[in-house]
Amino acid sequence: MSKIVTGYWDCPYCNNKGISGLEKRCTACGHPQDEGTKFYLKEQKEYVSEDKAGKYGKGADWTCSYCGALNRHDAKVCVGCGADREESSGDYFENVEKQKQKAQAKQPEPTKGKRNYTPFIIGLVLLFAIIGFSCRPKNYGASVTDKEWSRAIDIEKYETVSESDWSVPDGGRVTDEKSEIHHYDDVLDHYETVTVEKSRQVQDGYDTHVEYDDNGDGTFTEREVQTPRYKTEYYTEEEEQPVYEKVPRYQTKYYYDIDKWVPDRTLETSGGADTPYWDDTVLSENEREGERRAEYKVTFTTNKDKTFTAAVDEGLWNSLDINDNVDLMVKSGRVTSVNGTEIE
Ligand SMILES: [Zn+2]
Ligand SMILES: [Zn+2]
Repeated sequence: MSKIVTGYWDCPYCNNKGISGLEKRCTACGHPQDEGTKFYLKEQKEYVSEDKAGKYGKGADWTCSYCGALNRHDAKVCVGCGADREESSGDYFENVEKQKQKAQAKQPEPTKGKRNYTPFIIGLVLLFAIIGFSCRPKNYGASVTDKEWSRAIDIEKYETVSESDWSVPDGGRVTDEKSEIHHYDDVLDHYETVTVEKSRQVQDGYDTHVEYDDNGDGTFTEREVQTPRYKTEYYTEEEEQPVYEKVPRYQTKYYYDIDKWVPDRTLETSGGADTPYWDDTVLSENEREGERRAEYKVTFTTNKDKTFTAAVDEGLWNSLDINDNVDLMVKSGRVTSVNGTEIE
């Protein structure tokens, strides 16, 4: 059963707060409820006595167009100025709606989403400054204390190789063929029955709470609201699941001999400050040269007795002699330039 609960209001005239909604006039200054009146509830609910309750919840108060006072829905004349009801339109709920719109129009743009990133930015700047300071290039006066070189030539040989594959390349001479497993296919063999545990939501009674509707006449109507409550129920179910078998698929594999160039050996030469040269071994008829590679390194010792070894190109290597004085640029322990020439 619904019950009538007392609402409360504040007098805008004398700032008297928490006046019973059943009082049409302020209990302190006598000012009537006006257009700005908004009824509210207190934590402690107070039920309107049974003999009075019948008079409430029958209709919202009407607003006097002349003085703005709120009047009971069944009042014929205004409590504030005595004007006739017929000459007024509008009620409590319309006033509340108007005030809501006014408040929304005044509300400034929400400032959500704006975060203060300043500490984070300062941290980053400091971090970069530290990295930049420790990694900044340093200049050294140095001398060349060591030189090294190494060169290599890959040699390939034309020879007969035994291979196998699912097809024979051009020039392949087949020596054997066999039926071998190429791949496996999943093939449905049968179904088997398995027991699977499942869950579902089932209704488990109701949760009850109370809500209050503003009657617009200084009272609220208490209402019980029921919402269904759910619980998880577990159950098992038999399911048919497919069982697959791995079936091998055979194909013909070819074994063949084929003549081709294959890597054979590498001819290496190396030295110190002498003139670099390539190995000049004479190749036999079934041999040929593959790739040529070379590496040139220079070691520098600074006047502070630090040593740096750098890989350089042939031109720079040739231009430097032992005991030559040079200007070095070093960054993060690595030589980046010699006498202004950049090193990769
Ligand atoms: Zn008052
Ligand atoms: Zn009036």
